[in-house]
Amino acid sequence: MNKTWNESVRNSLKSANQCNVYFGHKRFHEANFPIKVPLEFAERIDKSNPLDPLLLQILPKETETIKGFLDSPVLDEQYSPVKGLIHKYPSRVLLISSSVCAIHCQYCFRQNFDYESHDILKNWDDIESYLSKNKEVNEVILSGGDPLTLSDKKISKILKKIESISHIKTLRIHTRTAVVIPSRITQELIEILNITKLKVVIVFHINHAQEISDEFVKNIQALRGLTLLNQSVLLKDVNDNAKVLADLSYKLFESSILPYYLHLLDKVSGAERFLISDKKAKEIYKLLQKSIPGYLLPRMVRDEGGESKNLVL
Ligand code: SF4
Repeated sequence: MNKTWNESVRNSLKSANQCNVYFGHKRFHEANFPIKVPLEFAERIDKSNPLDPLLLQILPKETETIKGFLDSPVLDEQYSPVKGLIHKYPSRVLLISSSVCAIHCQYCFRQNFDYESHDILKNWDDIESYLSKNKEVNEVILSGGDPLTLSDKKISKILKKIESISHIKTLRIHTRTAVVIPSRITQELIEILNITKLKVVIVFHINHAQEISDEFVKNIQALRGLTLLNQSVLLKDVNDNAKVLADLSYKLFESSILPYYLHLLDKVSGAERFLISDKKAKEIYKLLQKSIPGYLLPRMVRDEGGESKNLVL
């Protein structure tokens, strides 16, 4: 019998020791950002390749912090008028809907975020009052953590609350869980997302074509009526290559997902080894531009911690 997604979460590798035993080496050690790797993701790693692009994303920090790398590089707290809500752009707000992720990506810019105080259901009255007053907001983004680590029941509850605010028309979900544990796309979730009156946009977070399993491709077919996009982070030794990025774009397209953003790394302490110079990033992007059609080209952006995303090219 297939595992449920909750069982997959419970069975994830959650310590350096478990990872070292699973992969048969000693490269994992306990670090500031705890290790968490679902077996579905681990199974996609080539154990014989020490430079496997999926393995490199989950290995804890090996290098010292270098100048310019900060605990909180994107200044989320400064744009949080109400706990649980981040408002950087006039027409949309982001809700920190979960403090949990299905996987711990070692380059994550929110690895030091104070999730404890940002619970949206605990702070809902304040969030609702803020949204009611700010009528220019027409889109709510569920982020985290990862909103798909919440139960379907809780997601449904949050959606009903958002639907009750008449000027909110669009719901966006940012998720990496769906690709690292494809069974998370349950029948109940599909129904919730297909019946809501909100226009639904799902933005997956996939960095490499190797992350995309047949099960993921099969399961997302039921979401094809929604807008499906992807964002990646440009990571040294993981996907810093035009061919790798082109392969990802084509694989996404086969899966009915359009590439949306290619983020330059947020300079969070612990992520130093993933940094690519702007010069190299632009060279890669120019090659990518030549090798794929425009509709498969993600926009290369950097979050400056301020109000706008800067288009780098
Ligand atoms: S899934 Fe997203 S929020 Fe969670 S650790 Fe990875 S990058 Fe960070």
